Amino acid sequence: MTEGIPVLVCLRVHEDTISSVVPGSTQGECDKCAHKVWISRSGQQMMAQEEVRVRCLECTNEEVPTWGPDQEVRAVTGAREEISEYLKSLLFPRKSDEPL
Ligand SMILES: [Zn+2]
Repeated sequence: MTEGIPVLVCLRVHEDTISSVVPGSTQGECDKCAHKVWISRSGQQMMAQEEVRVRCLECTNEEVPTWGPDQEVRAVTGAREEISEYLKSLLFPRKSDEPL
């Protein structure tokens, strides 16, 4: 029985292309297809606090039409801030001699 267990949606790791991931991300595995995926820091924190089903985006897209109307959809706590912080670092790179 896996209903009620949150799904953590992750991007697949693509070995053949250069992709940009949020710093601190680690590699995990999709519970359904076993493809390698990126798990962000906020995703890692969620996994430490509760049971989740790790899913790549492709498997999630296949599952969504089977979800019932009661399926809860929520953002991972801290994910929005994490992405915002990362995008700012790309736009305004910190100089190496600048204090943190
Ligand atoms: Zn998958």
